[in-house]
Amino acid sequence: MQSKLLNRRDLDFILYELLEVESLTRHPRFAEHSRETFDAALDTATRIAEEKFAPHNRKADLNEPRFDGIRVEIIPEVGEALDAFCEAGFMAAAQDIEMGGMQLPWTVAQSCFAWFSAANISTAGYPFLTIANANLIGTFGSEAQKRKYLPSLLSGRFFGTMCLSEPQAGSSLSDIRTTAHANPDGSYRLVGNKMWISAGEHDLSENIVHLVLARIGGAPAGVKGISLFMVPKYRVNDDGTLGGRNDVALAGLNHKMGFRGTTNCVLNFGEQGGAHAELVGEPNKGLAYMFQMMNEARIGVGMGATVLGYTGYLHALAYARERPQGRLPSSKDAQQPPVKIIEHADVKRMLLTQKAYVEGALALCLYCSLLVDRSHTAEDQKARREADLLLDILTPVAKAWPSQYCLEANSLAIQVHGGYGYTREYPVEQFYRDNRLNPIHEGTNGIQALDLLGRKAGMNDGAAIQLLAREISSVVREASVCDSEELRRCGMLLNDALDRVMKVTRNLLCVTGRGEVDLGLANASVYLDLAGHTVIGWMWLKQAMVAVQKVGTAHEADRDFYQGKLQACAFFFRWELSKTRQWAELLDSLDPTCLDMQDSWF
Ligand SMILES: Cc1cc2nc3c(=O)[nH]c(=O)nc-3n(C[C@H](O)[C@H](O)[C@H](O)COP(=O)(O)OP(=O)(O)OC[C@H]3O[C@@H](n4cnc5c(N)ncnc54)[C@H](O)[C@@H]3O)c2cc1C
Repeated sequence: MQSKLLNRRDLDFILYELLEVESLTRHPRFAEHSRETFDAALDTATRIAEEKFAPHNRKADLNEPRFDGIRVEIIPEVGEALDAFCEAGFMAAAQDIEMGGMQLPWTVAQSCFAWFSAANISTAGYPFLTIANANLIGTFGSEAQKRKYLPSLLSGRFFGTMCLSEPQAGSSLSDIRTTAHANPDGSYRLVGNKMWISAGEHDLSENIVHLVLARIGGAPAGVKGISLFMVPKYRVNDDGTLGGRNDVALAGLNHKMGFRGTTNCVLNFGEQGGAHAELVGEPNKGLAYMFQMMNEARIGVGMGATVLGYTGYLHALAYARERPQGRLPSSKDAQQPPVKIIEHADVKRMLLTQKAYVEGALALCLYCSLLVDRSHTAEDQKARREADLLLDILTPVAKAWPSQYCLEANSLAIQVHGGYGYTREYPVEQFYRDNRLNPIHEGTNGIQALDLLGRKAGMNDGAAIQLLAREISSVVREASVCDSEELRRCGMLLNDALDRVMKVTRNLLCVTGRGEVDLGLANASVYLDLAGHTVIGWMWLKQAMVAVQKVGTAHEADRDFYQGKLQACAFFFRWELSKTRQWAELLDSLDPTCLDMQDSWF
């Protein structure tokens, strides 16, 4: 039976036919791997996700973690699922073999992780944070810190968090107040409050390693005075054994709309005089370090949003194939049996929209994961640098586009279910609630839009966006000489959309360049829509170019699969990419309506 978590055929298509990840095995780092080992890891992930993660997804939603004043109670299935995850080695899936890892490409590791997120996003939240935490320590920690913490994080003995936000400082991290005071022995005493800390307190692991942003007393104001610290819940001795309780206290749990199985905490550091903290890297470079984790986490958030949209789509598809209701407009005879709702054009529209959004987003997130691999392993420095540049410009898109449009896919999945979708008897309402977090955390989508237009589009004289334009143009060129008239037309439409993006970018950078920054950035969210739809159009054309070559000779089931890709590509270009024209017009007009609106006029 086809899984309702994800479509393995589609994942295989993106990995092996579109992105050709097998070619990574030519690099010495992945030389021990092959399609067989990648498939084996994916099979194991699928099995554990279906057997251990999916069954308690609803139970964890209905029984959110409770704080009894001493400890946080979490349903036992969460710990059991995470034990299975760690035992199978997924915490260290992309890590070096010497570190106990599988040394999988990041693209394959992310594809494995997709199954856990699709099955149970809130249980997957614990390893999601731990993996990012370990990567950060692995990159910027001292050798002693790595020895002390990494083996425990990678085996799942310790879990990790990221502590950036404070009650008064969410989007604007330059306003954080948590302060670190130096001790004579080189360690620090940390005092402050952190808000919204996911996985901030629990007994699922022996210890919790908090990565905390704080200011060292006397540091410069703003982002240039922020440092990064490791603050474990229990102090850790040099040999890795646990010491005494650190001065980190749970002030309370936040009660959320979704993602309910992941504890979310207000943490007080230093109520008893100061939490013991170790500086990571150099003072005042904390935000730059944290950005490494955030960029990775942002693609991960996009991936989480994508797979929640994806599983919602598969549930809606299965429902639409079974639910009889009404007759086609051409056949109103009440004596005739009702048709399955999948026969209705409007239901097909909703399903096609979901398919176009989630499969487009999956291709983008895995393409970005491949860029992570390339940035580490591409043969020459130029190729590594290009991968980094593309990642820079695509990260805000990969975070924000899926979290907006795959959330919309979840809304459509509810719509396909009619009234039943609005009840708790069907899982689609939970997918929507879970996914509603993704436009908010890891930098709201509004902040991603400012990052894309205000920083990434203009950085290095526009080097990243020009490279992106070259990549998109090369697919347009391929399409222009292909046999399919439809794809040649798609190529022209994509070229038009790209021209719009580049023209709007030049205009807006001109406006911000002459000092009218508020006006230039006022409609940044629309710019993200414009750029995002163009990027997803590119992903669809790339997929369609593969599909069109194979559809003619494929066997029956595969023929349907490729035909579905071609139809979804046509749908995206006709129904969605056309929106870029209107967005570009609005941006070109420098519309000041939102900017000019006054507080008192609301
Ligand atoms: C469930 C959950 C889990 C989380 N997990 C973590 C975690 O593990 N660690 C952590 O550190 N944080 C975490 N966060 C915090 C999250 O990253 C913040 O909520 C987010 O960054 C927004 O900050 P805020 O809530 O203070 O909203 P605000 O920053 O007050 O933003 C409110 C609104 O104003 C907009 N806005 C703010 N500034 C600007 C601006 N300059 N220009 C335009 N619009 C602006 C925002 O886009 C938003 O729409 C979590 C949040 C939630 C809800």
